[in-house]
Amino acid sequence: MAKKKVQTKKKVQAKKRVQIKKKVVKRKETKKREEVKFIGQVTRIRQTDPATVVEWPRTVTHFHTYGMLSPFFEGLRKGELRATQCPNPKCAEKRLWIPPRAHCPDCHTEMIWKTLSNPVTGKVYAFTRVVYAGTGIELSTPYWQVDVEIPGLATIPKSYLLYGEPHIGMKVKAEFRTKKPTNTVLDYYWVPCEQ
Ligand SMILES: [Zn+2]
Repeated sequence: MAKKKVQTKKKVQAKKRVQIKKKVVKRKETKKREEVKFIGQVTRIRQTDPATVVEWPRTVTHFHTYGMLSPFFEGLRKGELRATQCPNPKCAEKRLWIPPRAHCPDCHTEMIWKTLSNPVTGKVYAFTRVVYAGTGIELSTPYWQVDVEIPGLATIPKSYLLYGEPHIGMKVKAEFRTKKPTNTVLDYYWVPCEQ
């Protein structure tokens, strides 16, 4: 009788052990379970009366490819102004394009790259005082937006004057933000170069 009791006790203990083991396994399974998580910023409630108003901060990272125009931005990082040119001998437009075009606007041939030799100089063709910049303009205001005529170009590109005050026909020189590049078109700008 006593022997049977001991055996029963052992059986009960073994059963419990199995149960505990099962529980542990169960807990582990729960840990492994993948759940959908909230990864955003908490939206704060600003007011509830007369209606709920929440403060919903959002930032957006925009992935933008420069595509076939990538050499232009590589050039800026190196302190070079690069333009494209139509290689088609039958095309009437032989001049350079800045902003660059991947394909010739006149004959649709794929363009080739040309690096303008430094120092790149030009003349102010037009200018505008920017006091209220549009969204996405990452320059301090006010600043002078300048359209500069560069010899050999089919275009009159827009950029900005780093300092000074422009006038029509003013001689300017291109400089580059190579130390801390923004990797945008803002990496080249003009500075006065009149004596
Ligand atoms: Zn062409």
